[in-house]
Amino acid sequence: MATLGDLSRLVYSTEQGRICPGCGQPVAGCICKQAKPAPKTDGIVRVAYETKGRKGKGVTVIRGVALDADALAQLGKQLKSGCGSGGTTKDGVIEIQGDHRDFVIPALQKQGMVVKRSGG
Ligand SMILES: [Zn+2]
Repeated sequence: MATLGDLSRLVYSTEQGRICPGCGQPVAGCICKQAKPAPKTDGIVRVAYETKGRKGKGVTVIRGVALDADALAQLGKQLKSGCGSGGTTKDGVIEIQGDHRDFVIPALQKQGMVVKRSGG
């Protein structure tokens, strides 16, 4: 016969309903969607200049920045104004129109990031 202690260790409890495997909270109180952890990276920020599929107009592409969406958008804004250029920040990637690697790489390094120049 199971004791109360055994029951409390069960993953699924009839009292709380299903436990979310992501956060360990009851599914009704799941916090996975609220929490926006920084995307997993290898700790290296890669800065590339890409022209492929862009009608000859190159963009500086910054990937692997370990910041959450809001902080990344903020960084993107700073870099764009620093370059005096437009661009977008989405899906964890900052894009800035034109080749701004010589500005972007030292700017990121100044913030303590490990930066690699990649691609063209
Ligand atoms: Zn969850």
